[in-house]
Amino acid sequence: MSDVIESNDAAMPPEQKYFVEAAKRKRSDGTKQFEQLHFSENERLRNLADDPFADHTALDKAPSPINDGGSVKFLILGAGMGGIVMAIRLIKQGFSADQIVLIETAGGVGGTWYWNRYPGLHCDVEAYCYLPLLEETGYMPKEKYASSVEIRTYLEDLVKRFDLGRRILFRSQVTALEWDERSTAWKTGLVARSGPGGKDERSLTVHADFITLASGLFPYPQVPRVQGLSDFAGEMFHTSRWNYDITGGSSDVAFPEMDKLKGKRVGIIGTGATAIQAVPQLAKYAAELFVFQRTPSQVNVRGQRTTDPAEWLGKIAAKSGWQKERMENLAEHLAGHRAPGVDDLVNDEWSRLEAYCALIGSNRFGRIAPDKAQEHIGQMIALDTAHNKQARERIANVVKNKETAKKLTPWYPTWCKRPTFSDMYLETFNNSHVHLIDTDGKGIDSVTPKGVVANGQEYPIDILVLSTGYRSPTAGGDPGGRMGIEIVGRNGRTMSQKWNEQGISTLHGVFSNGFPNLFFQSAAQAAATANYMHVLEVLSQHIAAIIAHGHKKASSPAEKVVIEPSAAAEDAWGMQIAQGAAFFSATVICTPSYLNLEGEAFEMPPVDDQVAMMKKAKAAIWQGGLVEFTRKIEEWRGDGKLEGVEVTVAA
Ligand code: NDP
Repeated sequence: MSDVIESNDAAMPPEQKYFVEAAKRKRSDGTKQFEQLHFSENERLRNLADDPFADHTALDKAPSPINDGGSVKFLILGAGMGGIVMAIRLIKQGFSADQIVLIETAGGVGGTWYWNRYPGLHCDVEAYCYLPLLEETGYMPKEKYASSVEIRTYLEDLVKRFDLGRRILFRSQVTALEWDERSTAWKTGLVARSGPGGKDERSLTVHADFITLASGLFPYPQVPRVQGLSDFAGEMFHTSRWNYDITGGSSDVAFPEMDKLKGKRVGIIGTGATAIQAVPQLAKYAAELFVFQRTPSQVNVRGQRTTDPAEWLGKIAAKSGWQKERMENLAEHLAGHRAPGVDDLVNDEWSRLEAYCALIGSNRFGRIAPDKAQEHIGQMIALDTAHNKQARERIANVVKNKETAKKLTPWYPTWCKRPTFSDMYLETFNNSHVHLIDTDGKGIDSVTPKGVVANGQEYPIDILVLSTGYRSPTAGGDPGGRMGIEIVGRNGRTMSQKWNEQGISTLHGVFSNGFPNLFFQSAAQAAATANYMHVLEVLSQHIAAIIAHGHKKASSPAEKVVIEPSAAAEDAWGMQIAQGAAFFSATVICTPSYLNLEGEAFEMPPVDDQVAMMKKAKAAIWQGGLVEFTRKIEEWRGDGKLEGVEVTVAA
């Protein structure tokens, strides 16, 4: 069967097919093809972003950790994984929960794991590496890949364990941040919601000595701007706000019984990492399922299994420091570093994806000079060839209908989209009530009150599931802009002005000159890997250590400490980042996706515009991968000097 797919394209080598398929998907409207639900002018679409999971009555009764006019030492924006781990790392540096307030939009903790409760959802990264602080809590994940229920529960327990629950202001959002030189604190504007449905709003102004932005990768769900979407007469919802009132079942179990789908025609738009998990569950209950596809995902073997307690105690979690070692072992395998004699501890389909390093960095190939980019791209394609072919062949072996198998076959290098892992998704298409509506890269045409139109044909449906993703984490400019906040630093200069003039300017990706005591977590000018929890751990530990270092200069806790990187240190760091940027040239051959701002990231400034070229290069991540980055910043902290950090102490 596999030969059918390969031989149909025998005249075209895979790399040429990659170009042909990518070209089909390039659009002049780039990211503008989508609208984010939160900002939609259409009320129905805007309401799809509401919080269906908050217990507003209970939240209304909870005391507020901060009130209008109040102040706090640490304000953390976000109580998802990044915010929780940040708070814990501060506590571990000797600060107390009473000195911390977390501001969270949702009605509970977990961030992406609060919002995403769709049926079948499991984290694609091994739980032993993904769940934070497992050594500290002694928790043994139930399975190799944790369900969203288990992750959410674990995070709630973590918050209780560190007594942080009472320190979170839920249903709230920071709207303004301005450095106040006189009080050496951040004047912070907030909107807090309360009442039925969390619809009553009040404004607060508070002061915080330190701010950390921990908004996560995907706060803004989006939908395509297609004609008629809001006029669909049936029920619809986005996967990040799964509506169990419509489908039946509940978010308390990983595989809910969606009995209300019986007899219904369900449509799902999108076939990304989310849909790969939701589709098999929808197929179990719906009378008919229509899957609208623009680009197929690469679907690798999952291999889920229950954790064996004996293996856990005797092998996986047997020694102190095991989790850091395991996370780094995975990150190194993903970065293509297979040191002789070092076992692949995770040993799954992720850890074997060595070509993924084209996206997340590696030092295995040395520094890539810009004029060697073409050669480097060829090297990356070669590294991916066997795996990519095997993934394509798997489809042909699993999916019985040859035409369907062909349509499900992705043609792009593995690093171009988040690879997915499932032992159920492809199999689902062998059911006669499951229909793949492939649009050959074009996307759906429109939505009518009755259904979805694709390839000129209307498919009548009763329930529409929007699995159409999120605004790209890199959209929105500076770290404040990505959260909709204009950050006003020293002398009234905004972070967006600084980013526009100089490009991304940070030391180690976590703080920036002119914005004292303000820290952020993101991959730009830092590092990346497939396990984003690992990135958050590294950055949170780094931020907490820098803050603790600053406090060593104070002689009493009453003294205020002001910390920021010097302009010279961040310039030097930006230069080091830029020198490694050519390594990431292999991403320019990718099909459009949120990873490349739907193709907008490929637009290059004119080669003679050195300033623009430099800005672009400075926006990269650390070329050598997350583990090399970690060693570098650990070494920098190691001598206790924290070269390039300016600390002042005010009474
Ligand atoms: P994605 O952005 O990956 O997928 C959106 C889907 O919608 C794509 O298939 C896209 O097609 C499709 N689409 C968009 N517009 C149209 C249109 N007009 N017509 C038809 N189809 C359209 O979002 P997901 O929610 O699937 O995943 C987002 C990210 O969340 C992942 O990449 C991953 O990083 C993370 N995630 C992580 C998981 C984990 O286990 N760690 C699990 C799930 C998600 P096209 O590809 O052509 O753009």
